[in-house]
Amino acid sequence: MMLYTHILAGVFVFTIVSEIVNPSANPGFISLAFMISIIAAIAPDFDMVFELVPRKLRIVKHRGITHTLLALIASSAIITIYNKLLAVYYSFGYGSHLLLDGVTKSGIKPFYPFKYKLRGPITTGGLSEIPVAAILIISVWILA
Ligand SMILES: [Zn+2]
Repeated sequence: MMLYTHILAGVFVFTIVSEIVNPSANPGFISLAFMISIIAAIAPDFDMVFELVPRKLRIVKHRGITHTLLALIASSAIITIYNKLLAVYYSFGYGSHLLLDGVTKSGIKPFYPFKYKLRGPITTGGLSEIPVAAILIISVWILA
């Protein structure tokens, strides 16, 4: 999925999780939870930094280890040490990324080191991604 779809998913996750956990009315916490949701929703694609490194020297490839449940669990555990409630936002944000990339034709291998590939019918950046983004926008609009 494209960056804009992942960001929309982060906003969607923030909206849903806030409905469920009903955070305190502390504006500072709510702002932080919003940022964490969006950062988590795009975090797995930070592996694209390695696209700048020559192919033979790359230790991390795109949609590799950062697009696994292992990365989700490990990074969520680190956030949990800091704040359990923020970790809920983070986990769902990160999970939204894996789910969205998992329904694309390129897919992901969520159960690393096992080779099972999760994939779907959507072309990243294609017309089929637009309804996904639209559903996210409409969902947030309805819930907000
Ligand atoms: Zn991705």
